[in-house]
Amino acid sequence: MKTITKQQIKQAAQQAYDDVKGLSGGKNADYIPFLADIDPALFALSVVLPDGDRIDLGDHEYRFGIESVSKVPTALLVMKQSGSQALLDKIGADATGLPFNSIFAILLENDHPSTPLVNAGAITACSMVTPTGDSSAKWKAIVDNITDLCGSAPVLLDQLYKSESATNYNNRSITWLLRNYNRIYDDPDMSLDLYTRQCSLGVTSSQLAAMAGTIANAGVNPVTGKQVFDAAMMPQIVSLIATVGFYEHTGDWLYTAGIPAKSGVGGGILGVLPGLLGIAAFAPPLDSAGNSVKGQAAVKSFVRQLGLGVFNGENIRIVD
Ligand code: GLU
Repeated sequence: MKTITKQQIKQAAQQAYDDVKGLSGGKNADYIPFLADIDPALFALSVVLPDGDRIDLGDHEYRFGIESVSKVPTALLVMKQSGSQALLDKIGADATGLPFNSIFAILLENDHPSTPLVNAGAITACSMVTPTGDSSAKWKAIVDNITDLCGSAPVLLDQLYKSESATNYNNRSITWLLRNYNRIYDDPDMSLDLYTRQCSLGVTSSQLAAMAGTIANAGVNPVTGKQVFDAAMMPQIVSLIATVGFYEHTGDWLYTAGIPAKSGVGGGILGVLPGLLGIAAFAPPLDSAGNSVKGQAAVKSFVRQLGLGVFNGENIRIVD
């Protein structure tokens, strides 16, 4: 059994933040016009431990678009409402190996959308949220679930929602192609709208770290103490995150960083070390696959300094 102290964790987070703060490279997402205008210098790093202790550095109160990280809570919601088997049967748990918005992937795997963590599977997940047919009740279920996971409410970024709704032609094609294969389980336009709205929720890195901490803590929010999902779902959601969290760069990410993590084109990253801690980073400039350049560097620096990683085969305990 290896032990690490909270002081070591704090120092590693500070070091990661300081080392990465001046890093350049990458570019804000610009296919959603609103995201192109976000200040590229914003940078935050947050960590939440299972006892609710937290570390917040940089712009951790800035609300950014959650974007694809929202696919994680909504996958959990579908598992909660319909069961893990329904998620596997109707969506699946396989990586596509293709970009997050790939239409080609749907054509190749037309019997299911592959995983709830790419656009196609996430739109199907929104269609599966209950109660079927009731957009406002479904929206409430999505937001309440994110609120429980974060321990505080996200806020809809109205301008982002409008910007994304006005330009989401590719996602409209995905939605109707899924409909063609009978892989949408509610009204297609409503399902796409719910997906677009959930991507437009503003969250802080502190909130995302609490969500990550709740997942790492087997469904119990370490900050509020609320049981948000059944412990048996932790390995399932973490396996989904590990398989496809960084899209077509997921294997490279796991190989080099060793921590299952999910990114979003708003610049957010949520990382989970089951049983140990949750981490979140935010910085808008992205690499070619849509993953935050600084966010990746900061998370990697943090786990490397502490020698953490899901494949290390070590039993680690955090002590005061
Ligand atoms: N709302 C974005 C889209 O549908 C999310 C993509 C992402 O964050 O990877 O394109």
